Amino acid sequence: MSSIAAPPAPAGKRRFLAPDRGRSWDEARVTAIAPESTSGTTLRLAHPEVPELQAGQYYLLRLATPSPPGVVEQAYSVSSSPHPPSAEIEITVREVTGGRISPLLAHHVRVGDLLHVRGPFGFLTWSEEDGGPLLLLGAGSGVAPLMSIVRYAAARGATTPMTVLCSSRDRSTVLFRQPLEKLDRAEPWLSVVHTFTRDSDDSYPRYHRRIDAVMIAEVTAASFGSARADVTYLVAGPPDMVAAVRRALSELGVPDARMASEDHA
Ligand SMILES: Cc1cc2nc3c(=O)[nH]c(=O)nc-3n(C[C@H](O)[C@H](O)[C@H](O)COP(=O)(O)OP(=O)(O)OC[C@H]3O[C@@H](n4cnc5c(N)ncnc54)[C@H](O)[C@@H]3O)c2cc1C
Repeated sequence: MSSIAAPPAPAGKRRFLAPDRGRSWDEARVTAIAPESTSGTTLRLAHPEVPELQAGQYYLLRLATPSPPGVVEQAYSVSSSPHPPSAEIEITVREVTGGRISPLLAHHVRVGDLLHVRGPFGFLTWSEEDGGPLLLLGAGSGVAPLMSIVRYAAARGATTPMTVLCSSRDRSTVLFRQPLEKLDRAEPWLSVVHTFTRDSDDSYPRYHRRIDAVMIAEVTAASFGSARADVTYLVAGPPDMVAAVRRALSELGVPDARMASEDHA
């Protein structure tokens, strides 16, 4: 995170907490807020203690909403590296227009606010023992857990070959464009490939369509060599994207055991 976008808000810092009679939620303090590319907001949250976290996992956040008054729980992936272990994690929120809590997280939560969190959860994870090569396919907020995996690999000094295939509508909606570019330049084991679905004039991405079987086969061959049967595919994004990518992988003969996915519904 490069800049803190919000001023501290000492008064009313509990305003997003709803009563928690069973004490089943942790209180995490927001310690920094920064824009992420042009389409997301990254919040740094300090836990009461260092969590046992794997790269790719997510937390549930629970917020009291002012209008309509209520309590809403949603999942947010950790986008930071779990290494070195830290009480602080980062989540990256894409605002859903008309949504109940993503606009609050993106625009109204301030540094100093307390938020209810519970976790970590999730099985779309990677660590050195899992090996590779890895093709990470993401769209929308699905790029967040993949970012955590790439950052973790870099922080650990891993050399497992990895390619991120990132699908976005256009340049303005690419999450983590600059951090991914920086890691792509710095790390010989990493490649980043973009596809834009709505802007056919921009020469930045390699592809200009939704992810399909031909694209996956080409990217796999270019990244790891065409005869590799040992590639693992991790997929995250909106449910229709995840279903389409899983179908494409099946068409290519990839067994279920070599793919894992997470719907960001
Ligand atoms: C495992 C998991 C991890 C997730 N990680 C992240 C993350 O890292 N970052 C992130 O920003 N989000 C993430 N999400 C999505 C997040 O949990 C919320 O669903 C999202 O922020 C919308 O919440 P909301 O309360 O603002 O919208 P809601 O009030 O739930 O929805 C309002 C309206 O928008 C529609 N809608 C909901 N989500 C979307 C969407 N993504 N795109 C388009 N329309 C939508 C709903 O159908 C509804 O009509 C994740 C979801 C899951 C299941």
